[in-house]
Amino acid sequence: MPLTNVQTRDVEALLHPYTALHKLRETGPLVLDHGKGVYVYDTQGKEYIEGMSGLWCAGLGFGDEELIETAKEQLSRLPYYHLFGGKSVEPAIELAEKLKEIAPFEASKVFFTSSGSEANDTQVKLAWYFNNAKGRPEKKKIVSRVKAYHGVTIVSASLTGLPNNHRDFDLPVDRILHTDCPHYYRFGEAGESEADFTARIVGNLKAMIEREGPETIAAFIAEPIMGAGGVIVPPKGYYEQVQALLAEHDILFIDDEVINGFGRTGNWWGCETMNFTPDSISCAKQLTSAYAPLGAVMVSQELYDAFVAESQKIGVFGHGFTYGGHPLSCALGVKSIEIYQKRNILAHVRSLAPQFEERLKRIADHPLVGEVRYSGLVGGVELVADKTTKRPFQPGHGIGALCARHGESNGLIVRAIGDTIALCPPMIITSDELDALFDRLEKTLDDTERSVA
Ligand code: PLP
Repeated sequence: MPLTNVQTRDVEALLHPYTALHKLRETGPLVLDHGKGVYVYDTQGKEYIEGMSGLWCAGLGFGDEELIETAKEQLSRLPYYHLFGGKSVEPAIELAEKLKEIAPFEASKVFFTSSGSEANDTQVKLAWYFNNAKGRPEKKKIVSRVKAYHGVTIVSASLTGLPNNHRDFDLPVDRILHTDCPHYYRFGEAGESEADFTARIVGNLKAMIEREGPETIAAFIAEPIMGAGGVIVPPKGYYEQVQALLAEHDILFIDDEVINGFGRTGNWWGCETMNFTPDSISCAKQLTSAYAPLGAVMVSQELYDAFVAESQKIGVFGHGFTYGGHPLSCALGVKSIEIYQKRNILAHVRSLAPQFEERLKRIADHPLVGEVRYSGLVGGVELVADKTTKRPFQPGHGIGALCARHGESNGLIVRAIGDTIALCPPMIITSDELDALFDRLEKTLDDTERSVA
């Protein structure tokens, strides 16, 4: 099909993130125009169920009147101010207080960024600053995991454990290590039980810590349920064992809640669902339901005390972003949390989770589907060439992207992560809308199967 006028303008003007650039020039982008609830509409007026909340972020859906009013009010009162050098704004103070209230650990202070990548970059800088303050200049390595996604800035992309985020970008940088991905279906060995798999990969982490020397390792970073790595739910007991190992070696546990946070898994935080307690948290995305960019890092009293001591020694805590604590974003953050609370969004997610699970399990029987994975209202459907042997499609086949394209034809937006189709609908979705989403997904899988037959 020839490109429309707006598509042509797009490919002539934009360098798109996370896109097969060569293909986009032929297909043109899907240009979205407006949205309401769980639906978005393209420039031709076609309706789609947004099965991914955009990029796992628009948890309250589109066109929420309360959020829109909040934005208008804040823009007319004070459209911008910052937190540098002793300045402040009330929305940032209020949001920090709210975050401390709902934090799953004894959070002492909140540092604001503009994105999840900046939050994780900040985490690494804070871990380094902390250990310098503690007089342990050699304790600097950060352990992440294969298939982890923690962002795309130089250090957060280094934490990310996906080849395409490293290849030809000259990454990862030094002092970043990657341990096993806790995905039993893909990495469990023949005849190995899930418990044995867990013991093996935790054993590998232990061996890595001993090999590198615990005195050189500052932190371990994990996303409780791994989203952009393919919606991977680690086995029961995994995090408890990891947490014990980290505590034994005085290694900080950094929790990346950028996708999991704010109810996605049915609790405020993924670490509550997965049963561990971190030393610090990164969050973003649903923090403002994506109505404005915002990320945050929450730290413990122990970390904060060390930062104060080091700042006293050097004269300043020399880190901060122009838009960190932006009053518009923070006002939207305060309002989002208020809405999660007063509309009982967490209870709503928990009430829909059984239906989400049941519909995913039905899909698990489809000939193209190897495994389905889920928690709360986030799920993944892994497509395979051979269901019995788990054999994946040839690298480069593009089955996931093909399926996502069929989804769009059927009025459904999903995200292909390699061969896994991710689902992360707005948390306000109703039971009927969820059924409609799965009806469209089932048709999409059938269409995909026909086109590869
Ligand atoms: N961490 C996780 C778990 C994410 O899923 C993402 C983005 O998808 C990031 C960090 C990076 O966030 P951003 O794209 O806002 O920089």
